[in-house]
Amino acid sequence: DLPLLRSPWRLGSLELPHRVVMGSMHTGLEPRGDGGAALAAFYRERIEGGAALAITGGISVNAEARGGPDYVVMTDASTRQTYTAVTAAVHDAGGFISAQLFHAGRYAVGEWAVAPSPVPWRAARGLVPRELTSADIERTIADFAASAVAAREAGFDAVELMASEGYLLNQFLSPLTNQRTDEWGADSNGEQSAAARRRFPLAVFDAVRAAVGPDFPVTVRISATDLMPGSTTEAEVDEFALALADAGVDALSMGVGWHESTVPTVQASVPHAAWISYGERLADIVHARHPELPVIGSNRVIDLRDAEGILARGHVDAVALARPFLADPEIVNRSFAGDFALINSCIGCDQACIDRSLVFQEISCLVNPRAGRETEYPLGITNARKRVAVVGGGPAGLAAADDLARRGHAVTVFEARGELGGQFSLAARVPGKEDYALTVRSAAKRLAAAGAEVRTNERAGASALGAFDGVVVASGVTPRAVDIEGADLPHVLSYEQAIRNGVPAGTVAIIGGGGIGVDLAAFLVESHDEKTRALAFEERFGVDGSAEFARSRPTRALQQPCPGSEVTVLRRSGKFGQGVGITSRWVNVGALQHAGVRMLAGIDYRRITHEGVEVVHADGSVELIPGETVVICAGQEPNETLSAELAAAGIRHEIVGGARDARSVDAVRATSEGLAAARRV
Ligand code: SF4
Repeated sequence: DLPLLRSPWRLGSLELPHRVVMGSMHTGLEPRGDGGAALAAFYRERIEGGAALAITGGISVNAEARGGPDYVVMTDASTRQTYTAVTAAVHDAGGFISAQLFHAGRYAVGEWAVAPSPVPWRAARGLVPRELTSADIERTIADFAASAVAAREAGFDAVELMASEGYLLNQFLSPLTNQRTDEWGADSNGEQSAAARRRFPLAVFDAVRAAVGPDFPVTVRISATDLMPGSTTEAEVDEFALALADAGVDALSMGVGWHESTVPTVQASVPHAAWISYGERLADIVHARHPELPVIGSNRVIDLRDAEGILARGHVDAVALARPFLADPEIVNRSFAGDFALINSCIGCDQACIDRSLVFQEISCLVNPRAGRETEYPLGITNARKRVAVVGGGPAGLAAADDLARRGHAVTVFEARGELGGQFSLAARVPGKEDYALTVRSAAKRLAAAGAEVRTNERAGASALGAFDGVVVASGVTPRAVDIEGADLPHVLSYEQAIRNGVPAGTVAIIGGGGIGVDLAAFLVESHDEKTRALAFEERFGVDGSAEFARSRPTRALQQPCPGSEVTVLRRSGKFGQGVGITSRWVNVGALQHAGVRMLAGIDYRRITHEGVEVVHADGSVELIPGETVVICAGQEPNETLSAELAAAGIRHEIVGGARDARSVDAVRATSEGLAAARRV
């Protein structure tokens, strides 16, 4: 029933019908130059899907505030035009929208980067931010205020000041990045102090409040813990939150972790809601002095039943989710209707959202390739119903079938295996990727609800497929064999055999250290019990709700790998986990290092023996890598049999996903191709 989530609340002057907030996401659609059409459609669909309040991605308060080339400046005329269209669409759909006012500071990827002090971040590639002068600081405060006014004029219902995740306001708070000796970092005696470091973000808040007046909601997203050794202390976090509350903020939203932190917060392997306790602790501090001030918790919540549980604990007043709204714009309506099985869950892969935004591409979603492309792929029931066969129930096939069925076509899915999912059904067996099964299960439910027919254990041939009006071939891939002596020995398995059937206890040598090799190693060394893994995560990263503990714990824990692993991953060349997205690779590889997995690169394979794999090192020496089981993770080959058969029979068809190109199997490309094919048949 979700009674707590469904209870109304007030955010300043706004009356909100429920306590789910669509959190901020930088979409990359902002500078499209289409008058805001794409962005308006993106938000409209999510408001129509039940979101009551959406927070925009960061809108820069001036040119040097931009995070990168695809960020827009709130006071520019084109930005006002874009967001006037967005706010009109949101209001038309019955929702509210808040503008997140943003300054990247030293996280800006561009020569315009500025910061409290000239301290580059660890991925800055030699770019040293320019230290803001006192005059720059006064100007920046004025720019925040002017942007708030511009936002109100563009029709926004509120503004959120971004003071979390290590952006400029957060940079001023931290001694790591604010080493100023003037009033913006130090007391009158020249001693650096937290009170002085707070001065800038509080001045920004005061200026914004003065500019928009008491009735226009102003919220602040603060960092409940920076997850950076040596950064802001717990007492300093508390004092900042209380100072904002005293100054009249309308709500506080809880962020955790800087982008450069070595502690994962958003990846698939992060347990659901892992960091919520930090926001809860801070909420208690704030509520002790300001009981009525709404505090919004967030971070890695993907299911509204979990959000209901968080509210039931009685600390925070609302819960913000971001990526789950990419994956399923209807998450609120479906949850409130009790249709949880239909929800297309965010699987935490980051591949089409965060990873893309980091390289300034428009974001989308692996499990919902329409995300961000609502204008290109409008919904609507077809008036030219076709009978369409989709061959293969992996990610590409399901994306095609889901879109076709939803728009009213008569869809039949043929799946040769006994279960849907393809590569996703393998991935879902990997610890930390269990949620991949949710997206497969929900696709099956949606197909059934739309009247599609799913035929498992059935291989469709040209004779049957010729009767359909359209055919989408998503027959996927098979593991590639390797040409190494001994590869035909009985203890040599393909990754698919290993994951589907398991591996006997003992030493394991993995040939191939790309994404699949790393997944396989995780499959072998990590606990398959989510609760055990969640506890191990808390232990490893010091998750105990205390900002003080977390800021000192991570590096210590990372230096203590567990001994005793019996798995070796081998790679001729390239990085381990190559092909895994930028936000996830370091986490996945780091987890293996932590578990004591040996990773050996720069070798060549001599032969596979009954004892393991003989490898040749660069200096010519030979080493036997123990392997009572040897698993081949050397890429895939496309399943082309069916497409060849269809071509020979002259049956028109669309080939998508790994069946089309298995060289670099990429699930984002696969689902995107599935959607595109669905619109062509
Ligand atoms: Fe979630 Fe992955 Fe979609 Fe991003 S791309 S919203 S992480 S499922």
